[in-house]
Amino acid sequence: MPSSRLRRHVAAGTVTLPMSDYVIPEPEPKEIDERVAIELRHLADNAVLRGSPSGDEQCENCRYLLEPSRDISYCWHPKLRILVGASWWCQWWEAIPEPG
Ligand code: SF4
Repeated sequence: MPSSRLRRHVAAGTVTLPMSDYVIPEPEPKEIDERVAIELRHLADNAVLRGSPSGDEQCENCRYLLEPSRDISYCWHPKLRILVGASWWCQWWEAIPEPG
């Protein structure tokens, strides 16, 4: 199989190969992608994770979001540990504690 560099040249038209030699394959999910997708689906289902707020509660104002100023950030809740959107929500939402 040609290297990724050669594929880029072919795609850019700076190199041509005889049609019978090489056909750029369509990208498709691999076995690992299907496995990861299933794992993440279970994780999201267990958390009742939604891509929208629940009232005033959302990841942006949850204690488990690492960088609340970003649109997408890391949720460090021990049952999740994934990237989430600022306006998402899950059943483990907790308010940010008042500074003590
Ligand atoms: S625990 Fe839930 S609500 Fe809180 S940041 Fe993580 S995914 Fe969002």
